[in-house]
Amino acid sequence: MDCIFCKIINEEIPADKVFENDKVVAFLDIRPINPGHTLIIPKKHVESLFEVDEETLKEIMLTAQKVAKGIIIALGLQGFNFTQNHGAVAGQIVPHLHWHIIPRKENDGLQPWDRKVEYKEGEKEKVAEKIKREII
Ligand code: AMP
Ligand code: ZN
Repeated sequence: MDCIFCKIINEEIPADKVFENDKVVAFLDIRPINPGHTLIIPKKHVESLFEVDEETLKEIMLTAQKVAKGIIIALGLQGFNFTQNHGAVAGQIVPHLHWHIIPRKENDGLQPWDRKVEYKEGEKEKVAEKIKREII
């Protein structure tokens, strides 16, 4: 399979790995938003959050907790963004499931989110109901 992250896992291409175990790898993003920007991936190739098995998902989250603490201490950060882009429309470029840990410092110039939309009267409750019905 021609997957760049699988190639990193298989050591066919280099990466600056900061953590690895039998299920997951964490390595530095090659085009960082801030220094220390790290990606966490499962070793098993899946494209999205919907395909990953429960055990691997748990391991990713536990790893994220450990790695984020390490990054915070090592780089003297005030915080980080922890994000997963699902689908091209959300900015997913690499089709191998990954989470970003993006280091944050005071006045680093990054804006967390754009919030241009407001609910109309009664709309918020309808949206919540619609979502609730689809959660199994
Ligand atoms: P996304 O847009 O969520 O799919 O993020 C993919 C990320 O992978 C981007 O931030 C890229 O900079 C990063 N990336 C792509 N190729 C490599 C690579 N060979 N080593 C490290 N990071 C990479
Ligand atoms: Zn892959």
